[in-house]
Amino acid sequence: MLRTNTCGELTISNETQEVTLCGWVQKSRDLGGMTFVDLRDRYGITQLAFNLEVDKPLCEKARTLGREFVVKATGFVKERESKNKNIPTGEIEIIVTAVEVLNESKTPPFTIEDDTDGGEELRMKYRYLDLRRNPLKKSLALRHKLGFEVRKYMNDQEFFEIETPYLIKSTPEGARDFVVPSRMNQGEFYALPQSPQTFKQLLMVAGYDRYFQLVKCFRDEDLRADRQPEFTQIDCEMCFVEQEDILNTFEGLMKYLFKSLKNIELADFPRMDYAIAIKEYGSDKPDIRFGMKFHELNDLVQNKGFNVFDQAELVVGICAEGAANYSRKQLDALTDFVRKPQIGANGLVYVKCNEDGTFKSSVDKFYSQEDLQEWSNEFGAKAGDLILVLAGNTNKTRSALNELRLEMGTRLELRNPNEFSPLWVVDFPLLEWDENSERFHAMHHPFTSPKNEDYHLIKTDPGKVRANAYDMVVNGVELGGGSIRIHDKELQEKMFDLLGFTEEEANSQFGFLMNAFEYGAPPHGGIAFGLDRIAALFGGSDSIRDYIAFPKNNSGRDMMIDSPSPISSEQLDELQIELQTKHV
Ligand code: ASP
Repeated sequence: MLRTNTCGELTISNETQEVTLCGWVQKSRDLGGMTFVDLRDRYGITQLAFNLEVDKPLCEKARTLGREFVVKATGFVKERESKNKNIPTGEIEIIVTAVEVLNESKTPPFTIEDDTDGGEELRMKYRYLDLRRNPLKKSLALRHKLGFEVRKYMNDQEFFEIETPYLIKSTPEGARDFVVPSRMNQGEFYALPQSPQTFKQLLMVAGYDRYFQLVKCFRDEDLRADRQPEFTQIDCEMCFVEQEDILNTFEGLMKYLFKSLKNIELADFPRMDYAIAIKEYGSDKPDIRFGMKFHELNDLVQNKGFNVFDQAELVVGICAEGAANYSRKQLDALTDFVRKPQIGANGLVYVKCNEDGTFKSSVDKFYSQEDLQEWSNEFGAKAGDLILVLAGNTNKTRSALNELRLEMGTRLELRNPNEFSPLWVVDFPLLEWDENSERFHAMHHPFTSPKNEDYHLIKTDPGKVRANAYDMVVNGVELGGGSIRIHDKELQEKMFDLLGFTEEEANSQFGFLMNAFEYGAPPHGGIAFGLDRIAALFGGSDSIRDYIAFPKNNSGRDMMIDSPSPISSEQLDELQIELQTKHV
């Protein structure tokens, strides 16, 4: 080893020891006769001290050390005169007797400090420098611990970690596939897995009983703060189980992770039907850290002459506690918020429940004080509360009110990042109507089984059939989801038929799975969690990027290696791919 110790471990108990440290120069200071250099490595920072009077050449050498130089220093541990209580090594310094520059560094394009001056793009371009900063080191340490604890729990529960291939053919899971051309099979393509779904099911057919994998998945979709084109799942599957068994096993995993990483004991997770989640929160991933549930008002408010409400399929509102003192400006800001194109409401109706028991609303022209009293009763509103109401098409209005509820939750500081409210959302619909293609799509994926008791509706009212499908949601973030699978060939064929696959299409894409179902496929089910999302949640951040060592930007680019990028014409020729823009 080039060093005897790290820069994070020496304390007063090491006084007088001779040590050698290696690391990067965080900063240096010349104070008359003394030069101090902060030396940093993954473990921490230790102060190196050089005395001009004791060793002039050495001190002069120290003065040439620039930021981020890689240095090896030998010396003796000594108690410091002015101590730094903020760092574990702050009581000591090293009186250096020899220093060697292992490598020089250009001046970094941004400061390597907790609060850096570098913009996002610049930091992504020099990610290896950004990764030297403490906040990122902490994120990656958290992620490491998370993966480690997941493996520990799963191993204790008899799960085998088994790798599945990355070069596969597409599994339809809703997103677009990334494809990879095959040189040896010209004109043919692999797809990168959106998830190992069919492989993990085949492992159940093979009798492996309990499988898991920390696995990269690839989806070519539009990116947001919580989405990356490649991300990591904790992918799991079990044999001979019912929904209840999966929920218990993985509630156990999450409780274990909260305990081991955050020292938080979670109570049993509540369960919520999908239909209730949609009706009361307008979302299949409700943030239940706070109430503010939806109340539907059609019966109360229609036929009183207010056209907007009369014409609406749904009139629905929330009650924001203690917000009746909102100013004109604040109410206008809320109206602007719901009118944003991403939210899509036409307008916002408010009712202030005044302290004196009267009401002030934006629709006073149409509704008497008695009418507004009835609204207020419906919400159980108190003096000082603010009722906010949206109206229009049912689905759009629910999703707009969901956004408004979350916004109010944020404004009223009801979304404390240190509080965690998990739940299971269960009984998802099997199918979802797609307006564009005018046909049903699988809401989860085509391998999810319908509930036995709803199966009779499959021909007559397929939209009503519920699935054995579930999501785990924490603080409004979907951390994972899964289902009990179809393991019967005929039912799987029917499912593909329902989804509009011809028999040939189903066979060419999924013949391998349906064939396998003919060789003793056991009942099975599973779930997958987003590892990056769990890490971000535990770290108290909305962005998964900080928990991925080398993430891509919002256009799916890796700014550091500059990818994607064109390939050479030789490579294209070898793959027999002709680009329209090739010769431009
Ligand atoms: N493969 C599914 C997904 O990635 C999870 C599952 O059904 O286990 O969402």
